[in-house]
Amino acid sequence: MSYIVFDLEWNQCPYGKQAENPLLPFEIIEIGAVRLNEARESTGSFHALVKPCVYRRLHYQTSRVIGLSEEDLQKGIPFTEAAEAFLEFCGEDPVFCTWGTLDLTEFQRNLRFYDMLDRLPGPILYEDVQKLFAIQFETRADRRSLSYAVEFLNLPEEEAYHLASADAEYTARVFRRISPVIAKKNYSVDCFQNPKTRDEELRLKYDTYEKFISREYEAREDVMNDAHVTAVHCFLCHRNVKRVIRFFADGGGRNYLAAGLCPDHGYVKCKVRVREAQSGKYYAIRTTKMISEEEMQRLRAKQVMLRVKKQNRRK
Ligand SMILES: [Zn+2]
Repeated sequence: MSYIVFDLEWNQCPYGKQAENPLLPFEIIEIGAVRLNEARESTGSFHALVKPCVYRRLHYQTSRVIGLSEEDLQKGIPFTEAAEAFLEFCGEDPVFCTWGTLDLTEFQRNLRFYDMLDRLPGPILYEDVQKLFAIQFETRADRRSLSYAVEFLNLPEEEAYHLASADAEYTARVFRRISPVIAKKNYSVDCFQNPKTRDEELRLKYDTYEKFISREYEAREDVMNDAHVTAVHCFLCHRNVKRVIRFFADGGGRNYLAAGLCPDHGYVKCKVRVREAQSGKYYAIRTTKMISEEEMQRLRAKQVMLRVKKQNRRK
């Protein structure tokens, strides 16, 4: 197994959103990566400049941020070649590590654009170093910039940021400071290639919660009509438990919340987020965790408040 710590730079349509190619809003122009063994020692590095072919001019924000000019990019290689070489560098069993959630998604979107997505099957489990940094050094909800983390940890800073190779190297340095236990327990999942069938559904067990990622459904409503999605299980014994709060919509109808009661282990909270897949179909991400009686009461109060609000709107 190798860790592949990577960073991408991408360009977007210089003429604004209305002129962009919807299949490729972000065109990758640089790939930088560091490969680490299980002890997190470097075993190699990778760099490729990509010659853009969808957006040949740089968006003003891209040229402001990255240290590359349009002339530099003309020296790049086609994305297909760069991606092929990068995947070769990754080897058989890579565990990707990135700063934040975007790079892996945009890499897959670019692969799909060039009909190469079968080279990297998903869903992909990976390490989001930005999240891990927050969990270990701050609070779970914080999301800091890479330069913040590097300075916070007093790591050497000799290169400018926003060069793919430098950012990959900085991310690797932060990753080395993350406890292996924390990394192992808090891996992320990228659902650009979400499960399609029931066989592909994912059940990921974390210390304090479980994450279930469902198959695809034709319509948004179908998701919450499937008892397989809306069943409430005890996080500890996995028994199907009686619901004490039925599912109610929250967050503008994209989230649903419910609570159940396990006779042996107490209250369970269930949250279902309905997401639109790349295919235009829908799938669910359900998280289940134990809660206190107090938290259950707060959830009930929220349900009542939302119901009253809804009734008032109707009047
Ligand atoms: Zn139980």
